[in-house]
Amino acid sequence: MTSVAILGATGSVGRQAASVVAQDPQRFHAQVLVGGGDVDGIVALARALRPRVVGLVRLDDPSRLREQLDRSVEVVVGREALTLGADAEVVVNAVTGFAGLTVTNTALLAGRRLALANKESLVAAGDLVEDWRREGDGEIVPVDSEHSAVFQCLGGTRDADDRVAGLVLTSSGGPFRSTPLEELECVGVAEALAHPTWRMGPKISVDSSTLFNKGLEVIEAHHLFGVAYDAIEVVIHPQSVVHSMVRFRDGSVIAQLSEPTMALPLAVALYHPDRAPKAVSRLDFASTRSLTFEPVDLERFPALGLAFEAGRAGGAAPCWMNAANEVAVDAFLAGRIRWAEIYRVVAASMERYEPKRLGSVSDVVEADAAARDVARAVVEEWCRAS
Ligand code: NDP
Ligand code: MG
Repeated sequence: MTSVAILGATGSVGRQAASVVAQDPQRFHAQVLVGGGDVDGIVALARALRPRVVGLVRLDDPSRLREQLDRSVEVVVGREALTLGADAEVVVNAVTGFAGLTVTNTALLAGRRLALANKESLVAAGDLVEDWRREGDGEIVPVDSEHSAVFQCLGGTRDADDRVAGLVLTSSGGPFRSTPLEELECVGVAEALAHPTWRMGPKISVDSSTLFNKGLEVIEAHHLFGVAYDAIEVVIHPQSVVHSMVRFRDGSVIAQLSEPTMALPLAVALYHPDRAPKAVSRLDFASTRSLTFEPVDLERFPALGLAFEAGRAGGAAPCWMNAANEVAVDAFLAGRIRWAEIYRVVAASMERYEPKRLGSVSDVVEADAAARDVARAVVEEWCRAS
């Protein structure tokens, strides 16, 4: 029996992780479930999965949770709940945004297997994450679908050795792949959230519409597989069936295909090195289906170019970009800035970045906070001006 902790359990990925775990009670036990602030959501999950510990990060008073759960269940509230993963063999980090940093750090230092959906922690902390993994003798298995695809193409490893010539990450192109450029100035929140192939939480849905998500994934791939930025390509693939590919030095390309659902990458991470009995429905090649690929238009999606630049700059630059993007996405979702301004806020914030090295968690937290201050000031200046 493998004990599993799911952090971010009340979200889109967290619920799907809970469902993979619930489908195989002989194999998995959800020992720890942690959500953000959704009391009803975490209670419903806890009643179904019977964990030993339940946490909510954005709740101060534990009694509201305690009175709805069995007495034997331990309840933890506040930021401490983000460290609960140290207790389980596999830790699913499905928290959204920079808040996931604590989960990544705690799980790896405790020597756990980290099933990593939270790309923001890896982008922000960069090389430090591998240091933590080594120090705690932990393991990282990617959950992001592109990185799970690369992991599978490499035969269930993150070791992209000298036989690997490069990675090709696919992107659906999001909801604005073919929207006329002049209309992009006035697209609204509902349109940005309407992803054509994936159902996801609001932050990553907006990131998928700007392609900041793909930018974060390029940096994520660089750190997970140790592949140079020059050897990472992005290609638009609207059907989201080929989840990514690996180019080998002899010219061969290996791709991973499946229906677009996070159930598969989650099952790959949870069952590794084994395979789940079933995680996703069978791809039907007999029915008419075309798989198409096209280059990314960087004029339409300048966020991708900016992310490559931040990744190549290294140090705290990706952390800075990630934080500015989180501030810009929040401002967009709150109706304070327009969609096209998300990129502009991040680009203007990057102009105010001064190169810094990251040597510790506190350096990462400091860089994140400084970037947020800068990005918030940019948003305020623009809101006053408009
Ligand atoms: P959701 O917004 O659906 O869920 C986020 C989860 O994190 C919820 O449980 C939420 O709690 C919790 N949370 C939010 N803010 C905080 C905080 N400050 N502290 C602690 N917990 C918090 O996000 P997704 O499931 O879509 O995404 C989760 C992560 O997985 C992201 O990093 C995303 O990039 C990545 N990912 C997602 C994919 C998808 O298909 N959704 C695909 C690939 C990667 P609550 O709701 O209780 O407040
Ligand atoms: Mg992805």
